Order: sequence, then C-alpha cells, then structure tokens
Amino acid sequence: MSAHIVLTSHSQGRGEKAAHPIHWGAATPQERGPIIASLTSPVHRNAIGTHSGAYAIYRALAVASGNLDRDHRPDFTDTTPAESVGPHPQWSDPASIVSLDPYGHMVASAFAAEIAAGVDIRPTIAITKAHINMPELRAAIQAGRLKPDGRILFENGDARVTKAAIDPVWYLPGLAERFGIKESALRRNLFEQTGGMFPELVTRSDLKVFLPPIGGMTLYCFGEMSELGKPETKVACRVHDECNGSDVFGSDICTCRPYLAHGIEVCIEMAQQGGVGLVIYNRKEGRALGEVTKFLVYNARKRQVGGDRAETYFARTECVAGVQDMRFQELMPDVFHWLGVKRIDRWASMSNMKHGALVEQGIEVVERVPIPDELIPADARVEMDAKVAAGYFSAIAPVSAIELALPKGRGLAE
Ligand SMILES: [Zn+2]
Repeated sequence: MSAHIVLTSHSQGRGEKAAHPIHWGAATPQERGPIIASLTSPVHRNAIGTHSGAYAIYRALAVASGNLDRDHRPDFTDTTPAESVGPHPQWSDPASIVSLDPYGHMVASAFAAEIAAGVDIRPTIAITKAHINMPELRAAIQAGRLKPDGRILFENGDARVTKAAIDPVWYLPGLAERFGIKESALRRNLFEQTGGMFPELVTRSDLKVFLPPIGGMTLYCFGEMSELGKPETKVACRVHDECNGSDVFGSDICTCRPYLAHGIEVCIEMAQQGGVGLVIYNRKEGRALGEVTKFLVYNARKRQVGGDRAETYFARTECVAGVQDMRFQELMPDVFHWLGVKRIDRWASMSNMKHGALVEQGIEVVERVPIPDELIPADARVEMDAKVAAGYFSAIAPVSAIELALPKGRGLAE
C-alpha cells in the first residue's frame, strides 16, 4: 500500500495515449471501452469521480477508520444480472444515453479479461429479482381492482418484480448538448458547486465521463423484461421521484405514495395483460432540492399569512430554494433508451415536465393516466390544486382563483 497521495488533477506524463480510451456510443462494450473510476488502479482511471455516488464518502470513512482495506477489490462471483437487458440500437447513439452507462450491468463478463489482468473495473448497474408487498396492493385485491394470477400477483399481495439499481454515469459532452450549454460551463459549475471536490473537471478536459456524487435510480419491472424493446410489447410506466416522507412514512401533505401505489397497480394490470410495467424510482428528494429545503418550505407554507393555499404553493418553494424544481427531467428519458422502449402505452403521471422530456427524446406517450381523485389525501389538496392550475395533467378540473386562495392545508399545530 502506497503512502503517497496520488493527485489525479494532471495526467502525470504517463503518455499521450490512454490505455483504455472511451468511445461513448460505440455498439459493443469492447469498442466503447471500460469506464474506470476506481481508486485502486489510479493509472488506469479514465473517468472523473468515483463509484457509488454519495456513498463514496462512507467508503472514505470506512478506510479512514481502518474498517476497509483501501486496496480491496470486489469478487464478482455469482453477481451477474438475473435478467438480461439489451443491447438495443439506442445504445450506439451517443446522444440518446448521456447519464448512465448502457453496458454498466455487463462489466464483469464484458471486461473479464481486463479485470483478470488487474484493472479495477466495476459495474454501475445491478439486476436482481424479488417479491414486493404493499398494503395498497392487498387493498386493491380486496376491492376487486386487482386479481391475483399466481404469476405476476399472488393471493397474499406479493408481486413479482425484476429490479435494477442504476448509478449515474455522465458523458459530459452529451449532457451539455442535452441542456444546450457549453461543456466548459457545465464542468466549471460542477467543480465550483461541489466546493472544488473534483479538480479534473477543470484540469482534465481529456476525461469526458463523470460519476457524480448523487443518488441513482431503481427500476422495478413487472412482467417479462426480455419483452422490452419489441414494438408489439405494451408498456405501462410510473416515473417516480423520491419523497421519503410520503413514500415510506405515509406523510399526507403530498400525493407521492398514493400515486406510486396507483402506478404499481397500473403496471401489474399491464403485466397481467401480457405487457410490461415499469416503475422508475429516482433519488431526487424534494424535487432534487433535498429534504431540509423541503421541510423549510412546508413551514413557510403553513405559517404564511392566509394559510397553506394553492396560489402560493410554487412561490413558497421559490422563496427558499430560488427555483421551483431542480429535478431536470431532461435526463430522465435515458433509462427508456437503455431499455429499448420507444412507446409508453399507459403513462401514470400528471407532470407536464416529465411528459415533455419524453416527447423531446422521441418517446411516444399513448395514454396519460392521472391519479384517481379518491386517492388524494386531504392535506395534499393544496399541492394538487396548484399543480392543476399550473397546467399539470389531471382528472380533476382546474379550480377557480377564489378556490386557489382558500387555505386548504392543515396548520402546523393541528
Ligand atoms: Zn411527496
């Protein structure tokens, strides 16, 4: 183990030609080349950042406290995907996928020779299988909306899923193009807004791939994953951005968990009809503003003169965060390109931003499925009215200006 600190900010004169160049958008993993962001083989690194997103900081603590050998390398025995995905034609278009590595799940097999030769290459996608069980699914069975078939859905409420965890891998030139900005501006702001965490962003313009320290996504697939990418396969989908308070704890100020559960129901129905259902769960808490900002906004909404009401819903967020939303749905369609999906037959979402991003990326949305009115919690009426008034797609009619001015949210002490 070396006692030196290895600075990666400059290429240290190890020759002009990198040993493992990345050709983003190449049609095979071998032509594209491995993405090497590991710290145990610094001479091979051809990407900025490191694996596991924000969890890299815990790895640092584990090494610092003596709990993890800094030279540890993963043993990939029996870790290969439980279901295969791709390759799809979209993978060889460098502009289609810019925020994940389409070959990220194939690393252990596609680069077995390089790994055996000592290069530390790690997967950024893992695919496994599980059963999920939620009280809402049992209630839907009880109400007769869902029918167990012993294949997709069982009598006890278990639903069979294939699930994939996907870490972000950003191809910086493609990302800049997607946002219509200069790559240099993107790099500079990533460098500055992380407190200078990754100097290579500004010193190593030859490194085009960045593994950002952010949360990734989890994909839950109902039905046969291998049917995706075929034009005849019908697809239902819910793209859900994380809301821990509602999703996990059932907090009732928003419609997140009810919409998620409804989306899963729509997905199970589609799978039972021979199609495929997809729930894509993005770690973008509180519109990617984070939970601290979110709770500050809740207080500001509930304490403002006139009470918590729809007409000031977005303004209260903007006062605290400076923006209404930082989720950037522009990158969201990448996962559909990865899955080979060109058409979504049933789309369980009311967000005009998500819908617009899909259409922009050439993905057809056949039917938009709004959340049924009876699933909206009472305290979430403020959010719902504000969104509908702002042009979100919904089953309920837009409310009047008088309605929008009415306090509908619960007070802080109630
Ligand atoms: Zn929520």
